[in-house]
Amino acid sequence: MLGMEAAARNLTGATEHYEAIVLGAGITGLVSASVLLAQGCRRILVADTYNHVGGNHIDWSTGDYTFDAGSFIFQDDSPLLRHFPELLPRYMVIFPDWGRLNPQGVVTSYPISVKDDILGAGPMGWIRIFSSVLYARLFQRKIRNAKEFARYWIGGYLLHRSGLESYMKRFYGVPPDEIDIQLAQKRMLWISEHASVANLVRRLLPPRRQQKGPTNQQLIRPKQGFSHLYKAATERLEQGGATFLLGATFQTLERNEKTFFLHVNDRTISSDRVISTIPVNHVGAMCGFKSEQLSSVTLLSLFFSFSGQRGFTQSILYNFSHQGAWKRLTMHSDFYGHANGRDYFAVEVIAADVDFSAELGEQNFRNHVQAAGLFDGDLKLEGSMLLENAYPIYSKQSGARAAETIRALEHFGIESFGRQGGFDYQPTARVSTIEAETALSR
Ligand SMILES: Cc1cc2nc3c(=O)[nH]c(=O)nc-3n(C[C@H](O)[C@H](O)[C@H](O)COP(=O)(O)OP(=O)(O)OC[C@H]3O[C@@H](n4cnc5c(N)ncnc54)[C@H](O)[C@@H]3O)c2cc1C
Repeated sequence: MLGMEAAARNLTGATEHYEAIVLGAGITGLVSASVLLAQGCRRILVADTYNHVGGNHIDWSTGDYTFDAGSFIFQDDSPLLRHFPELLPRYMVIFPDWGRLNPQGVVTSYPISVKDDILGAGPMGWIRIFSSVLYARLFQRKIRNAKEFARYWIGGYLLHRSGLESYMKRFYGVPPDEIDIQLAQKRMLWISEHASVANLVRRLLPPRRQQKGPTNQQLIRPKQGFSHLYKAATERLEQGGATFLLGATFQTLERNEKTFFLHVNDRTISSDRVISTIPVNHVGAMCGFKSEQLSSVTLLSLFFSFSGQRGFTQSILYNFSHQGAWKRLTMHSDFYGHANGRDYFAVEVIAADVDFSAELGEQNFRNHVQAAGLFDGDLKLEGSMLLENAYPIYSKQSGARAAETIRALEHFGIESFGRQGGFDYQPTARVSTIEAETALSR
């Protein structure tokens, strides 16, 4: 908390005043601003160190190619559209299919294939699958981490045979036995859903009646990129009374009894309220708190163009094999059409697995996909990107340590939530929207 002298200095130095400051213009920041305006706020500042709106929804262009940092798919029934209905006509409708390369070198269903992973194991394999599940259910008394969680549900043998264990390492950024159980349950709920006996039996039997597929539409950003999409959200918020400060350099955040003072770009902005959606340790450092070491996955995205024969038909392919550092690839050209007569796609790699090096990542990818027969032809690296704070890593009690910092921020008067602000794995923009609405309705 500020001393009176410093507070007085800031009070006199403050040049602009807002009813609320929202730090971060990602989905959580945009929804927060929308909720605050709906609650009657009239002057809001949305400030971000990024010079774009949309947070970690990031694209990268070169020539006629526009790539995304990851695989971003949205839905037309997302609550985000209640806040920003003008986004809907800007999205592109797609009909994606997801596949996975399994350890046997087969491109098969994602996340698990009864045919290839279970029936394909043969009679000896069936016995091993069955006995390892039985063993886990009978003797695994405690579930302490992600590996034990998965093993409890599908048994150690299928965990290895399906490649799920290898994929989990790429997914979490650290070995699954180092991932705290809370996150495993949150991020891997689909394992228990898919592995329930009733579900497996249902999938083995021929469908008895017409099964309904998802009724929502799958959407992607427009071809021009995310900025074209989120411009519509920015305009709506600006009309409601929000001001955007992008590419900002945050310095410090101080407070006297009632007022916050944000020092940014060598000026001081005061506000009655601060909502933070930026990384917990960043805002903590701005407030002068001891910085917590919270580990996050840094994602390396490799952007390729390709001409030749593809060894798979799916638009999104996961790497469940035991080799190769890459985690997932997304064929943008399946959605947007070829550019320069070539396919183009983004590959996600956990940066730490390739020493944060695009060259190593590229070499590793090339070697693996060539051996797996996925790309036969001319594969060209068009560019790459490193994205810090892509996913929080919940190991060594980092979830609890983040919660402690968030409580300290709360005590200071700052409301901190969202994927970064809550150090919370929020898998979708839908979840981020709902969480922001909930946090601000308290
Ligand atoms: C690779 C990837 C793929 C995803 N795929 C999908 C998908 O298919 N569908 C879907 O609905 N959702 C997807 N999501 C999740 C969804 O994007 C998030 O739930 C939502 O965007 C989180 O928004 P946020 O504002 O809370 O946080 P973010 O957008 O992560 O960040 C908020 C703010 O924090 C600050 N910040 C973040 N990282 C840094 C940094 N390294 N340094 C400095 N400041 C930083 C910036 O100010 C940023 O604006 C994906 C996310 C990622 C990373």
